[in-house]
Amino acid sequence: MSFSFYNTLGRKLQSFQPIIPNKVGFYGCGPTVYNYAHIGNLRAYVVHDVLVKSLRRAGFEVTHVMNITDVGHLSGDSDDGDDKMVKSAEERGKSVLEVADFYTRAFFNDTARMNIERPTVVCKATEHVADMIVLIKRIEANGCTYSAGGNLYFDTTKVPGYGELALLRLDELKAGARTGLDENKQNPGDFVLWFTKSKFENQALVWDSPWGRGYPGWHIECSAMSIKYLGEQFDIHAGGIDHIPIHHTNEIAQSEAATGRRPWVRYWIHNEFLVLDKGKMSKSTGEFLTLQRLLDEGYQALDYRYFLLGGHYRSQLQFSREGLDSARNARKSLTEKVNALAEKAGGAAVLLPGKAGFGSAGAYIEAFNKALEEDLSTPRALAELWGLLRDNTVNPAEALAAVFDMDRVLSFSLQEGLKNDSPQNDEDAALVKEIEGLIAERGAAKKAKDFGRADAIRQGLKERGIILEDKPAGTVWRRA
Ligand code: AMP
Ligand code: ZN
Repeated sequence: MSFSFYNTLGRKLQSFQPIIPNKVGFYGCGPTVYNYAHIGNLRAYVVHDVLVKSLRRAGFEVTHVMNITDVGHLSGDSDDGDDKMVKSAEERGKSVLEVADFYTRAFFNDTARMNIERPTVVCKATEHVADMIVLIKRIEANGCTYSAGGNLYFDTTKVPGYGELALLRLDELKAGARTGLDENKQNPGDFVLWFTKSKFENQALVWDSPWGRGYPGWHIECSAMSIKYLGEQFDIHAGGIDHIPIHHTNEIAQSEAATGRRPWVRYWIHNEFLVLDKGKMSKSTGEFLTLQRLLDEGYQALDYRYFLLGGHYRSQLQFSREGLDSARNARKSLTEKVNALAEKAGGAAVLLPGKAGFGSAGAYIEAFNKALEEDLSTPRALAELWGLLRDNTVNPAEALAAVFDMDRVLSFSLQEGLKNDSPQNDEDAALVKEIEGLIAERGAAKKAKDFGRADAIRQGLKERGIILEDKPAGTVWRRA
C-alpha cells in the first residue's frame, strides 16, 4: 500500500516514504494529566490509532511514542497562565504526582474502552528531565538561548525557518501578542526552555540544572523524548491543530537548533477539532464532556469511536447526541449484519485466517485500502465496509474474512462481538453445548486451583481444533 498524507509542513498531500524502508517512527503528543481527557482529546488519539493501525496493516513496523505531560505545561501555551498540574493538585488537595497518576490511569482506561491501542512507548516527562537538560545544553552550545529574569529562553531569531510549519512570519508577529506578559522575552515567539525563578514559587517538582534549580518548559519535553526514542530525525509527528502555531513550531525550532539537522520530522499530521454545539470545549471553564459521561448516558465507547470515524480527521466535527445516536444505531446494525454473515458463512465460531485471500470480497478490500491510503479517509473506509455487507453477490465466508480484516483498523470488536450460539445444524448445536460445558468446568477448576484439570480441558479441546481464549469478559472459543 502506498500512503499519502496531508503534510502541514508545506500544506499539501504528499506521498509517504519513511526514512528507513518499512519502518515508521511516529510521535503523537499525549495528554497533560491534570484532569480527565475530554471527548475532543479522544478524537486526537483515535486519529493516531487509525494512522498506526493502517500503517501496520499495510506491513510497516511502527514505533509509536506518546508522552505523558506531568510537569511544565502552563494554561497558556506561550508560557503564560497557571501551571496546570500544580493548580489541579491544589484544588484537589493532592500532590502533583498523585494527580498525575490518577489521570494517567483514567486516560488509559478511556483509550482502552475505545479500542485505542497502547503506544509502543509511553514516556512521562518527569522521568526524562535529564534528557531534556542534555538537549537544552546542546541548544545552548549552538548559541540559540539567553538567560533573563532567572529563566533560560530559546531565541527564535537564531534558527532558520522559524514558524515555517504555521506559516508564521516573524516580522508579522506583533510583540506582546505572543510574548504574553513576560517582559524578559527578546522576541515575540521566544519561549522558556528552563524555568528557575518565576511566578510559580510553589512549584512542587524541581530539579537541579546548569541554569539553577527549576523545571523544564513544556515544548522541550516532546523534543527530548521523541529524539530519545525515535532518533534525531523521524517520520511522523501528530497532534491537534491547536498545536501548530506554538507547541509544534517550538518543538521544531528546538530540535533543529540542538541537532543542526533539518527537517527534524518529515510529515506533520494535524487533526481538526471536535466542537460542541456551544463551541469549543474548555477544561478550564468546565465546559467539556468526558467519555464516562457518555457511558453514563447509556452509550458505549465504541459508539463514540464509530461517530468519530464518520468524519475525516481534517474536518471539524460537530458533536451532538443526535449524531451519536445515529452512530449507535449504525453500529448496532453493523453487529447484526456481521452476525448474520457469520451464520451464512458456516457458524459464528468459524474464523478465517486473514491472509486466505478475499476472493469475491477483494474489490471492497482494495477500495477500503485506497480510502485509508488517501489521507486516512475513514468515512470512505466505512462506506466500503457497508457496501460489502450489503452486497449479496459476495461469498459469505470471503465477506466475513474481509470484514474482520477491515476491523483491524476500524476496531469495532466485530470478531469478539460475534454470537457464539448460532450453530448451523444439530451436530454443531451439540458441539457448542459441550464446549460451553467444558469452559464452565474449566472455570470452576481454575477457581478451585486445580490447574492440572483446567489445562487438560484446554489441551483436549485444542486437539479437537477448538481454541480457548481468556478475555477480560470471560473465555471465548474459536476453531483453530
Ligand atoms: P492536551 O491534553 O490539551 O495537550 O490535548 C491532547 C490532544 O488533544 C492534543 O493533540 C490536542 O491538540 C488535542 N485536542 C484538544 N482539544 C481538541 C478538540 N476539541 N478536538 C480534537 N482534538 C483536540
Ligand atoms: Zn508535544
